[in-house]
Amino acid sequence: MSQLHNFSAGPSILPQEAIDASIEGIKNFAGTGLSILEVSHRGKEFIAVVEEAQATIKELMGVPEGYEILFLGGGASTQFLMVAYNLLEKKGAYLKTGVWAANAVKEAKYLGNVEVVASSEDKNYSYIPKNYTIPTDADYFHCTSNNTIYGSQMQSFPDSPVTMVCDMSSDILSRKVDVSKFGLIYAGAQKNMGPAGVTVVIVRKDILGKVSRQIPSMMNYALHIEKETMFNTPPVFPIFAMLQNLKWVKKVGGVEEMQKRAAARANLLYSEIDSNPLFQGSIATEDRSQMNACFVLTDASLEDKFNAAWKAAGISGIKGHRSAGGYRASMYNALPLESVEALVNVMRTFNN
Ligand SMILES: *Cc1c(COP(=O)(O)O)cnc(C)c1O
Repeated sequence: MSQLHNFSAGPSILPQEAIDASIEGIKNFAGTGLSILEVSHRGKEFIAVVEEAQATIKELMGVPEGYEILFLGGGASTQFLMVAYNLLEKKGAYLKTGVWAANAVKEAKYLGNVEVVASSEDKNYSYIPKNYTIPTDADYFHCTSNNTIYGSQMQSFPDSPVTMVCDMSSDILSRKVDVSKFGLIYAGAQKNMGPAGVTVVIVRKDILGKVSRQIPSMMNYALHIEKETMFNTPPVFPIFAMLQNLKWVKKVGGVEEMQKRAAARANLLYSEIDSNPLFQGSIATEDRSQMNACFVLTDASLEDKFNAAWKAAGISGIKGHRSAGGYRASMYNALPLESVEALVNVMRTFNN
């Protein structure tokens, strides 16, 4: 119920309609006379929620046959480990483009051999490496489509000779993606899909069952698939709230419309950053993210003045991540263009 221009990097802004429908579900879920917070996950009403959420994701993203959709707990950070548990036999190949990608590398190393095929750590993750080679003897190649903290985004994906796995936490549903290029996609919902608490995993079944290790139950994708994503109690309310957001995305025009809106927001903000001498972008122009725009003031002495001005304009959440500094405007699906206009207006006028 944001009265502010909410540029939070995550958990992030949701459409008002999704928030209202979630409140209604807390009061009276699907006409049951009970709150969504107090019903069984095995009841037919909630099973219908899970199935509708799966079907809507499949429809919005164009997920082909052969893929399963899971709603798990533990955040994207648990996927760093779970991917390796299920896929790493000889070697995992990783593209290291930021803090989250580095964490994925770190967790995979608990289970086996990791090769970093390229890294942009040398320049504080300010670009996306190109011209790297994915080793054909790797079990999989792992990449991060959008680097939330630094504000860089893969504009295209390589033709991987091995199974491609992607952390799409912060740009899923914001642009068209050819799902068939990937063996596995995962996303913590709290950036662009819903509230915190649920992680979406889209996995092609035929990549599973190929490692020799024993996989503990909660780490085992095949078991979660077999139990129709209800091996244990799923995050009931986050799934419900996520579905309200998915319905909104579908209603307003799907991923195609989200992509148009993302481009409009990003173009407006980046053109201000590029034309206003008081600001400078932090990321190589061709690798800039449409979701998270990172920038700095060219004159640090203006910081207090700028901070006071955006706060006075009702803008929230543009302080940069503690490991990157500067400013970061996160512009997820539900952020109206008017919020970016408000920010650009402050950037133009605060030093007059
Ligand atoms: C936020 C984020 C994560 C971490 O997600 P959790 O759900 O907090 O574990 C991982 N990857 C990316 C790209 C993120 O933006």
